[in-house]
Amino acid sequence: VEQSIKDFISETIRTIPDFPKEGIQFKDITTLLQDKRALELTSYMLAQPFRHKSVDYVVGLESRGFLFGTNLAQDLNAGFVPVRKPGKLPAKTLSETYALEYGEDQVEIHEDAIFEGAKVIIHDDLIATGGTASAASKLIERLGGVIVGYSFIIELSFLNGRDQLTQNVPVESILIE
Ligand code: AMP
Repeated sequence: VEQSIKDFISETIRTIPDFPKEGIQFKDITTLLQDKRALELTSYMLAQPFRHKSVDYVVGLESRGFLFGTNLAQDLNAGFVPVRKPGKLPAKTLSETYALEYGEDQVEIHEDAIFEGAKVIIHDDLIATGGTASAASKLIERLGGVIVGYSFIIELSFLNGRDQLTQNVPVESILIE
């Protein structure tokens, strides 16, 4: 049953070649979101591995990690916290800089967003190199949070992104390519 759900979800995701630049196979989830059955099944599948876990916050990564992040938080009886690109969060923030293929990028979190010892799940639509999720992990750990899981719709496993994540924490991806 789970495999047929995954196959169905997979069929609703559109791959756009060479977007936003040459060589990238962009996974477009807007076609998943617009399909009401895929929308519901994706929410269900994201929550499934964590149903019996105690979770304080789901941290969603800008911007596509916001789409299912708040819903996942509600399903797990947790709060939602956004990690955003620089200059977007209005109160006091912590930031982490991370390397990209060319240049660098930054992510920020409100410094009062989570309490010390909070159990956190990091969620995004897709993990590629793992740079973004790894930088978000550092923010959470600097605030004294404990990462108890990672949640993705799609994992591009050939980029080995999960090797960048906090060790010995479960990584749950609905679709692994
Ligand atoms: P990374 O930091 O390399 O793991 O990249 C993850 C972030 O970039 C996520 O927020 C994704 O939404 C986005 N991203 C990276 N590669 C792709 C791709 N092939 N298709 C869609 N989104 C991508």
